[in-house]
Amino acid sequence: MNRREVDTHRILKTYFGFSQFRRGQEEIINALLAGRDVLAIMPTGAGKSLCYQAPALMLEGLTVVISPLISLMKDQVNALTDAAIRGAYLNSSLSYSEYKNTILRAGKGEYKILYIAPERLKREDIRALGDAPGIVMVVIDEAHCISQWGHDFRPSYLLITEFIGSLPKRPIIAAFTATATDKVKDDIRLILNLDDPYMLVTGFDRENLYFEVQKPEHKLQALLDCLRKYRDKSGIIYCATRKTVEELCKTLNDRGYEVTRYHAGLEDEERRINQDHFIYDRKTLMVATNAFGMGIDKSNVAFVIHYNMPKNIESYYQEAGRAGRDGSRADCILLYSPQDVRINKYLIENPQNGEVPRDEELIRHNLELLKAMTYYAATANCLRSELLAYFGETSSHYCGNCSNCTRFEPVDITIPAQKIISCVYRIEQRGKRFGRLMVIDILRGSKNKKVLHLELHTLSTYGIMADTDPYRIKAVIDYLVEQGYLAVEGDEYPVLCPGIRAKEVVFEKKSLSMMLPKEEKRQITLPSTEPPAEPPAEPPDAFDEALFGKLKELRNRLAQEARMPAYIIFTDASLRDMCRKKPRTLDQFHAVSGVGLVKMGKYGEIFTKAIREHTDY
Ligand code: ADP
Ligand code: MG
Repeated sequence: MNRREVDTHRILKTYFGFSQFRRGQEEIINALLAGRDVLAIMPTGAGKSLCYQAPALMLEGLTVVISPLISLMKDQVNALTDAAIRGAYLNSSLSYSEYKNTILRAGKGEYKILYIAPERLKREDIRALGDAPGIVMVVIDEAHCISQWGHDFRPSYLLITEFIGSLPKRPIIAAFTATATDKVKDDIRLILNLDDPYMLVTGFDRENLYFEVQKPEHKLQALLDCLRKYRDKSGIIYCATRKTVEELCKTLNDRGYEVTRYHAGLEDEERRINQDHFIYDRKTLMVATNAFGMGIDKSNVAFVIHYNMPKNIESYYQEAGRAGRDGSRADCILLYSPQDVRINKYLIENPQNGEVPRDEELIRHNLELLKAMTYYAATANCLRSELLAYFGETSSHYCGNCSNCTRFEPVDITIPAQKIISCVYRIEQRGKRFGRLMVIDILRGSKNKKVLHLELHTLSTYGIMADTDPYRIKAVIDYLVEQGYLAVEGDEYPVLCPGIRAKEVVFEKKSLSMMLPKEEKRQITLPSTEPPAEPPAEPPDAFDEALFGKLKELRNRLAQEARMPAYIIFTDASLRDMCRKKPRTLDQFHAVSGVGLVKMGKYGEIFTKAIREHTDY
């Protein structure tokens, strides 16, 4: 390790309590410390905050963080302060004197990190900040808000460029988001004027999330069935409209659930209170429209249920991704009905908020996105691989941890594999190579112009899989590529060619099998023999449940006294690690994930005492 590596690792443990970086974090931190701009696209829960908080501590000067989430700035700053990092925020929730005082102290260089709401950037007093303490870095969190192609465009984000331009010295600029379509990415780069940024797109997969789509006849019934399973666990239920939120919240409340609600039609004050009820675990269920949740880093959300299908996959993945932030297993369930498509179509064609003017191209674009979302709800393929494919990531076609994969079965694909690979060989013999879709067209005997024009219908393999569903052929092709029987060449126009193991199939007649969705036909003829799709059982916990309960209680009491959300003191993941490690001394306590020096000092005595008492008796 060189000096800087030692420093970043020290900061990671000392201030944040973690012993290892997550994927991408270290690279981003190093780029920022070297003075380079960054554009990082990492899924919700990946740990983006640490990517700028750690360098903010190490850089000389002030880091300004632009974040759209007024209500959450307080929590973020609380969390920083709890780890002895000097931070503050400027937004409309502060009184005039608090506001002035914060600006004054920022001007004196008293903070390392200052959160600012984007609307504030046009104010003179914030402009004046630029001169005093030397803003060394500007971080744009939820950077997709700058693009109207994103799913959450905020015009106030456009003030950022001007703000940065008004600073006496150009700061390092770091943009973070979980949304990654190319259009949005390009917009972020262009509008923020990023200078040869270090780009990082980590994998989108969230392994701890289980995905499920249900198409229930009675949604409420389906929802209640789900909720029974989760008992006291914390969860979010997303609805398409305010009206549904109101109705559902009332229904659940009448049935004795600890439930609260959130949508843009409520007064600010009520929204804040309701959100706090949820974050501070006073209510376990949050029923909300998509107005709720951006930046909510409540780490113990055990499930996210979509009572209605959202408008697009970005929104879905971001909202569903609010489950399981601390890495614990969590469920993401979509309750789909065809009515959802109609509602969304209406909402897209009749934009509700007056903020964005009607734009036909944008509407068309959004309808396309809706189509992709609808496909997700309908597909029999692995849900995870569909989500990842949407974000341009290839993955195994079978994850084994989604509701579709539970309906997969092992299928002998020896013959289809021979057909596909022979077809690719035959195409090569004619001196050509094609992408997946064209190969599928040939195998299925398509009469499309290009096939006929290139005389591909004269290939001996033309039409030999005419009866097979194209998605199934595609799944087999993907599997063959994954296993090296086929290969893909070319980046811009990827084409198929025989892989290094192709001969094993074609000449040695190797038999192959893979997991594939059960075929529809059989499901119709034998409905009663299909076992119900059960999500895989949670692995048995290797720790002491009783201790976990006690530590949770202790944490909640401390949180109440400190008026902070419980997870800011320790996440459930940290408590679980304590139950596994059962630390008796401060040194042992320091080894727990999420325990930095400050937390060890603040909470070490009381937690190790509780653990000793529990284990000694
Ligand atoms: P994002 O902004 O990317 O959605 P956050 O920054 O809110 O995610 O982080 C999500 C959770 O991951 C937080 O509870 C945070 O403490 C935790 N976390 C971040 N980095 C690490 C790490 N290196 N090791 C363990 N947990 C981490
Ligand atoms: Mg975040």
